[in-house]
Amino acid sequence: MFHILRRLAGNLAQGPVSLRFPAEVPPPAGLRGLVRIDPGRCLACGICSYVCVSNAITGAESQGAYAWAYEPGRCTFCGRCEDHCPGSALSMDPQAPPSYTTPGELARTATVAFPACPVCGEPNPHVTEEWIGKAFGAPNGETRELLRLCVRCRRRRIAQGMKQPHGGQP
Ligand code: SF4
Ligand code: SF4
Repeated sequence: MFHILRRLAGNLAQGPVSLRFPAEVPPPAGLRGLVRIDPGRCLACGICSYVCVSNAITGAESQGAYAWAYEPGRCTFCGRCEDHCPGSALSMDPQAPPSYTTPGELARTATVAFPACPVCGEPNPHVTEEWIGKAFGAPNGETRELLRLCVRCRRRRIAQGMKQPHGGQP
């Protein structure tokens, strides 16, 4: 009996051991948190939505832009999207996600606008300097110019280049 009373007194003297609201539990080391996107680096390739096994990321082309969307409620924080993003456009917030009560409250969206093809003016997914460097090293001016064209104008330009050495008309 005396032992129990002493334990009770000790616990009362110690005070609450749980964190009081709104204090937040510190995130564990190595936590991968919510996914963020930098639209300026996004290549609109769709790889992130393809590799996401829980369908937390979706993306679609619409009216000359790429609409990217992320639903944290489906995310398992596996990091596959970030690992596979060729544009290094995705990152993961190391902070623990905040508590929320309404489904979709933490959803994130981004619109990646397509620049116009310099030849025909059609909206065309852009390529970033960083991606060009990763894929081609230091390409010459002609290759760099080709990369900025839409697919149709690029094909036409390449076909013209193939004809010219054999005397064909551009
Ligand atoms: S975020 Fe990365 S993987 Fe996703 S569409 Fe953009 S460039 Fe591709
Ligand atoms: S971290 Fe994993 S589950 Fe979450 S969006 Fe990226 S690929 Fe999908």
